[in-house]
Amino acid sequence: MKHKAPRGTKDVLPADMPAWHYLENVFEALCRAYGYAEIRTPIFEDVDVFIRSVGEKSDVVQKEMYTFTDRGGRRLALRPECTAGVSRAFIEHGFHNLPQPVKLYYRGPMFRYDRPQAGRQRQFYQMGIELFGSTDPGADVEVIKFTSAFFDRLGFKGLQLHLNSVGCRECRPPYQERLKKVVELRKAALCSDCQKRLQDNPLRLLDCKVPGCQAALQEVPRIDENLCASCAAHFEAVKTRLDLLQIDYFLDSHLVRGLDYYTHTAFEFVSRSLGSQDSLGGGGRYDDLIEAFEGPPTPGVGMAVGVERILLAMEKEGLSLPPAALEGVYIAAAPASMQNEGLLLLYRLREAGLRAEADYMGRSLKAMMKHAHRGKYRFVVILDEETGERGAWKIRDMSRGEQREYAYEELLTFLLSERAEGEA
Ligand code: AMP
Repeated sequence: MKHKAPRGTKDVLPADMPAWHYLENVFEALCRAYGYAEIRTPIFEDVDVFIRSVGEKSDVVQKEMYTFTDRGGRRLALRPECTAGVSRAFIEHGFHNLPQPVKLYYRGPMFRYDRPQAGRQRQFYQMGIELFGSTDPGADVEVIKFTSAFFDRLGFKGLQLHLNSVGCRECRPPYQERLKKVVELRKAALCSDCQKRLQDNPLRLLDCKVPGCQAALQEVPRIDENLCASCAAHFEAVKTRLDLLQIDYFLDSHLVRGLDYYTHTAFEFVSRSLGSQDSLGGGGRYDDLIEAFEGPPTPGVGMAVGVERILLAMEKEGLSLPPAALEGVYIAAAPASMQNEGLLLLYRLREAGLRAEADYMGRSLKAMMKHAHRGKYRFVVILDEETGERGAWKIRDMSRGEQREYAYEELLTFLLSERAEGEA
């Protein structure tokens, strides 16, 4: 076939949807419980939105962004992540004038041009939350607890929470200088990307996955031991509250995350069942981001999880979805003489909001029953001449394997009441 989905993208097929909806529903139920309201921002933004936030020297901006010029000459980019767009919208709509904190969630596709591999795509789907307006360590903890509760509800057991503090604009620059000095001496061992990072973005040296760089970065000064007093106090308060909530964490001084806007807390939930693409979700604090957009100083903290990668990890760890409930009505009008009744019932049920289906393929009764079973219908209405002549309608309850007869009005009442029960 000539046309295929572009490299690094995947069609999400109807058979995949129950798993996707399950993840989305678990996520949205948590958003309700934690008080996050949905926001939908455009899939593309001015390039500058990402340059200012994610960072001009970051890999995401330098190597991974899909940028283009539109017919009006504007430089745009497909969003590589959503915090930048949500922050831009926060300022544009004056959300700093609302009672704080402002708690938002989003979900949708993100785009990064990277070498595709298991768990890494060029278009992938993220769900995330952002909490704006509070510097309280409790806000960091809320975002981490939300993420941990999300993975718990999906049934994950052995995920590891990696935690670090990347400091602030006071303590990070002197730390970066110290780091740079130490690594300069080992420069020859670094990959070509890290040779550049050493000049432009020394913090990013810490999370390079190339073995030679990892070896060269052993026993360098730790950022969490070089924090200013206020960053150290903030980090201690975060850890104390995580302890209180019995959330285990691993202090990972090499966790800096790829986007430049992080300050203070950085975290990632890591799966041991995945290979190199092992982070299922992560986030952190970004107290300078709104200011970078020339908005009023507004702290923030957030996180994002990746749907495709989580589904992959669930499969690897043998986590199953809750079994799909049988639902709706399949109308098996066996002889042609019963098809009008079948048609009228079909639309009557659909108008009442029930899932209802009938056969368009001329199947035999046996084949229709099989089809209804495969389609996970709860009831099959069987219209045959014998019962039709008596004005009766036969219903088979597929979950119990029982069959009963009803008069037409009774049948409707019965099916509608079953729907109300199913919806409750
Ligand atoms: P990040 O925005 O890089 O912190 O990523 C947050 C989460 O999004 C990761 O933990 C992954 O689950 C997911 N993710 C990031 N990049 C990709 C990608 N290229 N393909 C698939 N999932 C991704």
